[in-house]
Order: sequence, then C-alpha cells, then structure tokens
Amino acid sequence: VASPSAVAVVAIDIGGTNTRVALVYPQPGAPRFENVQAFPTEEAYAAQIQRLASAIADARVRAEARGVMVAGVGVSFGGRMAQDGASVAIAPNLRSYERQLLTKDLAVTGMPVRAAHDALCGLLGETRFGALAGRERCAYLTISTGLGAAIHLASAGAPGVYTSIEMGHQLLDLATRRCLCGQTGCLETYVSGRQLALYYGAPLEELVDPAIWETLAEKLSLGLVNLAQLTRVEVVAVGGAIALACPALLAVLHMRLANQLRGMSLEIIPAALGARSPLAGAAALLDTDPATILN
Ligand SMILES: [Zn+2]
Repeated sequence: VASPSAVAVVAIDIGGTNTRVALVYPQPGAPRFENVQAFPTEEAYAAQIQRLASAIADARVRAEARGVMVAGVGVSFGGRMAQDGASVAIAPNLRSYERQLLTKDLAVTGMPVRAAHDALCGLLGETRFGALAGRERCAYLTISTGLGAAIHLASAGAPGVYTSIEMGHQLLDLATRRCLCGQTGCLETYVSGRQLALYYGAPLEELVDPAIWETLAEKLSLGLVNLAQLTRVEVVAVGGAIALACPALLAVLHMRLANQLRGMSLEIIPAALGARSPLAGAAALLDTDPATILN
C-alpha cells in the first residue's frame, strides 16, 4: 500500500514498432514499474496521440485510486527531438511524427510533459538508477532494430551534459554496404536488426551463420574504439533486444577492445535495467535540469 505522499511518473516509450506506457515510482535504488498499456505504435500521429491521451488518463486514475500523486509525463521517443525538446525533428521510422509538437499534444491533462530521444532516455535511466550510477564519462548503447547511443560527460560532480549521438552512422569504410540513411559503409549496416535482415534477405532469428555474428562483433568493436577515442567515454552500458538476447557478445567486445585500444580503456557492461532503461530515463526526465540535455 502506497503512502499518501507517494509520487509516480507516467513513462511512455514510443518505439518504431511498439509503444509502452507505465507508471514509474522513483525510489532509492531501483525504480518500481507498473505496466499500464502496451500497443503497436500507430503510424498516424493523430491516432497515436489519441491512444496515448487515453493511456495517460488510465494511468492517472490507477495511481490516484491508491493515493499516489502523478508528477507528470516523460516520453522516450524513437527519433530525434528538435533542440527545444518539444517537437519531433527526425523520425525515419515514424515519418508522420516529424515537425509535430509532441510535448504540447500530450499535455492534455495539464500535467508537465518532457520528451527526449530513446537512447538519451536509456542513458538517463542507467545513470540515475542503473549500471552507470556515479560514472562521469559514460555512454549507453542500444543494439536492436537500429543502433542507438548517447553519452554523458561530466567532471568533478558537476551535472555535465547528456546527448545522443549518431553512433550507427559513423563510416567504417567506403566500399561496402549501402545504409538506409543514404551513406555507404555505416556501422549500422553490420549491426542493426533491420539492416541485417534486409541485407541477408531473412528474418534476424534465421541468421544462424556464425560469420554474421563475428562480423557484427568486429565492426561494433571498431565503432566502440572510435567512440572512446573521440569522446573520452570510459564505460558503456549495453542494452537493446539483440544485446539482451546475446550475452556472450559483451565478453567478445570486451576482449576485442582490450586488444585494439591503446593508451586508454573502455569498459563494456550490461545495462542493469534491461529493456526498461528508456522507461526509467523517461521518468527521470521530469526532474532533470533541461539545460543538461542537448537535443
Ligand atoms: Zn547510415
């Protein structure tokens, strides 16, 4: 039974395929999650807003029936937000969302709404509640349909800055695979579930040739060497469906990085919150200083 002073946040994770809505109860240690709704993401923006408005109302009724106050709505979005954090800038998997005022359109209940890129939310979740707590130069990497990453750089206890980066579209060579973004030789062409399935013409679960997975580890380790060299990040928490389904991958990456990096090291660890890092980070957005988030 919650105490009357208990506070929760409605956390929403809008992915290219699925949407999850949960109540998140931030508390010392790990947050507590209560699933409210999950549904396939509507491709039409207006239909998605309608479903979310009803899910937010549903979550609020559930919380308040138990004497829990809802502090606001946090959104993890599978696309890039504009610099002001209010409207959608680029969403390759959800084109009808581009230029829409997402935070205003979800403010239907009068509660404050904050939104950020899903990789940034994953990072925020892991730094606030998970494997990256207390780490000042760190990154979060998600390996699933696409490849997403965000970095946090701070020093001497100052809040620092959180930003998502185009990890998947760094070039590894100019001679091979064409990426969905239009460039040739992007890291994502070797690593993302969507692009692997397109390249090999089979669903990911049928790609059992070990050579595919060796290439994935080899190319991803090059991308991580670049990440360490370019950003001074010291530790990376890895999540996302492909990473979660393949725990041996982290050990392989760790070994390759130890062999390839000179003059620095990069620690590879699993995301402690698993698939929930972005939801936890969406909830944490509500009390994160907007000046520390670089959209
Ligand atoms: Zn690309």
